[in-house]
Amino acid sequence: MAGTSAHEPSQEAAPTLDAVVVGTGFAGLYMLHRLRTAGLSVRAFEAGDGVGGTWHWNRYPGARCDSESYYYCYSFSSELEQEWEWTCRYPEQPEILRYLNHVADRFDLRPDIQLDTTVTSAHYDEAAGRWLVRTDDGAAVSCTYFITAVGCLSAAQVPDIPGLDGFAGRWHHTGRWPQDGVDLAGKRVGVVGTGSTGIQAIPVIAESAAHLTVFQRTPNFSVPARNAPMSPQRQREIKENYPEIRRRTRETFGGFPYGVSDRSALEVSEQERQEEFEAGWRDGGHRLLFSGFRDLILDKDANDLAADFVRSKIREIVRDPATAEKLLPFDHPIGAKRPPIDTDYYETYNRDNVSLVDVRSSPIEEITPRGIRTADGEYELDVIVFATGFDAMTGALDKIDIRGRDGLRLRDKWAAGPATYLGVATSSFPNMFLITGPGSPSVLSNMPVSIEQHVEWIADCIGYLRSHDLGAIEATTQAEQEWGEHVNRVAGYTLFPLADSWYLGANIPGKPRVFTPYAGGAGKYRKRCDEVAAQGYPGFTLTGA
Ligand code: NAP
Repeated sequence: MAGTSAHEPSQEAAPTLDAVVVGTGFAGLYMLHRLRTAGLSVRAFEAGDGVGGTWHWNRYPGARCDSESYYYCYSFSSELEQEWEWTCRYPEQPEILRYLNHVADRFDLRPDIQLDTTVTSAHYDEAAGRWLVRTDDGAAVSCTYFITAVGCLSAAQVPDIPGLDGFAGRWHHTGRWPQDGVDLAGKRVGVVGTGSTGIQAIPVIAESAAHLTVFQRTPNFSVPARNAPMSPQRQREIKENYPEIRRRTRETFGGFPYGVSDRSALEVSEQERQEEFEAGWRDGGHRLLFSGFRDLILDKDANDLAADFVRSKIREIVRDPATAEKLLPFDHPIGAKRPPIDTDYYETYNRDNVSLVDVRSSPIEEITPRGIRTADGEYELDVIVFATGFDAMTGALDKIDIRGRDGLRLRDKWAAGPATYLGVATSSFPNMFLITGPGSPSVLSNMPVSIEQHVEWIADCIGYLRSHDLGAIEATTQAEQEWGEHVNRVAGYTLFPLADSWYLGANIPGKPRVFTPYAGGAGKYRKRCDEVAAQGYPGFTLTGA
């Protein structure tokens, strides 16, 4: 078998399981639960020292979900949804982490979770029809099904800036924030990055830092979140209406319980349009961009109107005209990068202890022992916070040495960009399933909804294989190619490709520029997956025991 040395456990010697799940965030926990309920032997490996995935690692100040709590959660258990009490419109990181720990306890998942263990490789042994999965503790297990639940945004990306090693202060990436926190009180703090993370963290850091310097490369469009406590009455209404809320989340484009309007922003009067934009701004969250008009992310003229509206708000909020000017985004359509939502982001630039440095016009040249030097000069800092994002969609998979038939490495197969069928499987890798993999709606949708859909589809598929005495399922190259073309074509109907975003891998030097998520809508995608299952898995090769 490819890559097995004399010192490593062999397929024959390794303990055998039906399935291995990698990761214990929303996806891994539910996958483990589903397979165990179906009677399979499963182990979930988790690199962290606790469950929670994204919500275990991203503990930075201000970390909060941009989706509303009542639908950013599991739907598979009505008891769970009735007993859990969300405290706010948008849940904070500690609350989501508590929720996921509650799920792990409530469904007694911990006995089959191995924490502090990184999966280093997974090799398919064609003769045995099994995967050999190795971990960083030197152990290995042999399994029939290898399932990745590694997250779309989990491989933290620290930019390669000369001098970082010599920095005399402390630096942290937001996605690897220390569990015991970082004391920023009275410190000179620099934040690099103004994506969703930076925009959440900056207002909170500004409250405790002596001085905060924001290093912005690309201005971003942000809309107020309008977070608020969840009233008992709202809590009751939601719980009474959960069946309908869940039905809608399964059918809509983004997995949200509200649909998209059928109006074009171009066919209404100027007054009507402004009223709708104002209502979106006032209500907060994603309404402005996703539910008021149908074409903001499809038609550049419609998009320009929404972009102008947000730019006018930035000018209104930020008192210093020069700072406001630096914050105005012009280089990409609104929503073509993942739209952030915020609490007092633009207002933060009115504080005396906050300054904004435009590193597009004067790039960061190096990190010195004292701080960050740009083309304009040196900024002295005690702490640098890198809110610089992730090697998205494929980064966490690339860290594992995954090899399929004939020793083919996933990394090599995907060198020119990921290729999958339905975003859940890839040819030459039998019995390997990717939860919210590239080519599925994933990050363009409300993640827990898409995660549940994938987990249920995978569990049903494994059930089908077992009940039909089938040994393996594998995507065909033809189905994979056609799906890839479809994913590309659909992206081309949208404005997404017009931004240099992580959706395209544009944030990682040298990464092939391929639009990875499926932009056709989570509701339609679900139907397609259901049809494939109902028809006996066309596009896949099923082989005997
Ligand atoms: P991101 O969107 O990739 O933003 C990274 C930021 O760092 C960008 O402003 C980028 O500038 C900047 N940057 C990167 N390298 C740089 C360099 N060498 N010099 C200067 N600036 C640099 O990452 P993120 O903010 O962590 O967000 C990633 C995704 O995580 C989000 O889009 C979202 O899907 C998810 N997220 C979700 C939530 C939630 O509430 N659910 C919260 C936070 C994040 P450029 O734009 O110029 O590249």
